[in-house]
Amino acid sequence: MSKPKIGIFGMTGCAGEQIVILNCEDELMDILKLLDIRSFHTAMSKNDEKCSLDIAFVEGALVHPEEEISLKEIRKRSRLLIALGTCAVWGGVAAMKNEVSRQRLKDIVYGSPGRIFKSIPAQPLHSLVKVDFSISGCPIEKEQFLQAVASLVHGDIPVLPKYAVCTECKINENTCLLLEKSELCLGPITIAGCNARCANCGIPCSGCRGPVEEANIASEVEILEERGFTLRDIYNQLRTFAGPAEAIQTHLAKR
Ligand code: SF4
Ligand code: SF4
Repeated sequence: MSKPKIGIFGMTGCAGEQIVILNCEDELMDILKLLDIRSFHTAMSKNDEKCSLDIAFVEGALVHPEEEISLKEIRKRSRLLIALGTCAVWGGVAAMKNEVSRQRLKDIVYGSPGRIFKSIPAQPLHSLVKVDFSISGCPIEKEQFLQAVASLVHGDIPVLPKYAVCTECKINENTCLLLEKSELCLGPITIAGCNARCANCGIPCSGCRGPVEEANIASEVEILEERGFTLRDIYNQLRTFAGPAEAIQTHLAKR
């Protein structure tokens, strides 16, 4: 059986997902035995830009107009397109800029000598092309990537948790930072998969994996307001990683 042809691509982001893949040190040789990696600019000097691909893994948000063109080309040549990481799945940190004018951002960050380059409102990949499967995380969990590769190679759609970070946190028997300590924890509305990494260390979840399906944002906001947080505090936290997410946008529009 021939190996599936794979491309690993990056739009705007920190390249964290590509680094996670490269950090699969113990598994890299097995990955190379299973996959025919044709394009991976961060890791390879020779890349095939034209061949058709079985699977394209794409990280990062759409921020530059050229990225829209390049993503459409990747989609055209790929049987499956997998969004990797919270920027690709939800817009991520890059989408925080959508709330602020480009001029203001430039002035604050670079001062008057700065130059503004062309950009579009930062968006997740699914706003432009069909995405067949998403693995969120900032960055993704290595185990979820490896499980996804194993499933895809066998022709199966990967199975990821559909519950919230709170479930993992409860399984780990942590003290609840939201209910017991009145901290701004987004665990109840954030998709699990990190084994409640932050809450395990006594740090509230900042929602870096994006919202769980059917996230009850209204209830989370109500609980946080009861504990004295301002709407501004709460919205700033909600928007940090998944501003364009429909559940968050719908809630923001209502308030
Ligand atoms: S600490 Fe946060 S993640 Fe853990 S149970 Fe409480 S709200 Fe959920
Ligand atoms: S606990 Fe929350 S902020 Fe921390 S890694 Fe998990 S999803 Fe991200």
